Amino acid sequence: MTIALKIEDLHASIGAIEIIKGLDLELPFGEVHAIMGPNGSGKSTLCHALTGNPVYEVSGSAKLGGKELLDKEISERALMGLIQGFQYPTEVPGVRLAEFLIEAGAERGIERSAIEERIRVEAERFTMTDFLDRSLNDDLSGGEKKRSEIFQAAVLGPRVALLDEIDSGLDIDAVKQVAEAVEEMRSPEIGTLMITHYSRILRYLTPDRIHVMLDGRIVESGGAELAEELEDGGYDAIRDRLGIEKPAEEEAPKKPSDFFTDIPF
Ligand code: ADP
Ligand code: MG
Repeated sequence: MTIALKIEDLHASIGAIEIIKGLDLELPFGEVHAIMGPNGSGKSTLCHALTGNPVYEVSGSAKLGGKELLDKEISERALMGLIQGFQYPTEVPGVRLAEFLIEAGAERGIERSAIEERIRVEAERFTMTDFLDRSLNDDLSGGEKKRSEIFQAAVLGPRVALLDEIDSGLDIDAVKQVAEAVEEMRSPEIGTLMITHYSRILRYLTPDRIHVMLDGRIVESGGAELAEELEDGGYDAIRDRLGIEKPAEEEAPKKPSDFFTDIPF
């Protein structure tokens, strides 16, 4: 089994504040893994540290297809096949989605005719054709932005896709669409790390493995039973079982329904 992404003893800090505190993870090619964690557990920081956001001081190792990422520039990491789908995609008025992808393709050495063909095919697959001539992420609904992130990843053909909160802030129909898009992108050449706060997307997509992240570490990895445990008892259930204390700054306990769905029941 070839490993798409192998993270060992990753630490990431800003100034004196350590956010990722020794994280290990293995993501094989062809698999979709979910990282689930409460707000503030460091999920976005993990993505930023891997893609190379210079705000963070990072140590440890993260290898893509066996090659170290952490000593490379951001652009080199992208050329190695790393892509991040953002929790909050930036709006770029005046730059058309299609133009952006043609440029990004050119940076990766993909010829114009080849990238245009990929754009056409993937836009049909992800129902993005109507958005190609519109500005990047501008005036898109939450669901459309997330679908666009996955579409862009599919066009650029990453080897490792980091999808940060790809399902947050979406109504249930959009969550379903996003889940289908993640499944669509699954291939033997890609490892996908899908980061989520809620377990509801897991009703529409079955990751090969689920990792629970608390306070900057993966504390537990497993299968669908972990999502069920979270759905029933929230992150407190996992903390209780593993004997992990709740950080003082975290808010008072909430009902599981507060954590896992936008629909009150
Ligand atoms: P998550 O994505 O799991 O909600 P984040 O990775 O965004 O968590 O944040 C983890 C912790 O790191 C939070 O306490 C957050 O306030 C802190 N943090 C993240 N980025 C910064 C930053 N640029 N400056 C200061 N603190 C940060
Ligand atoms: Mg986040």
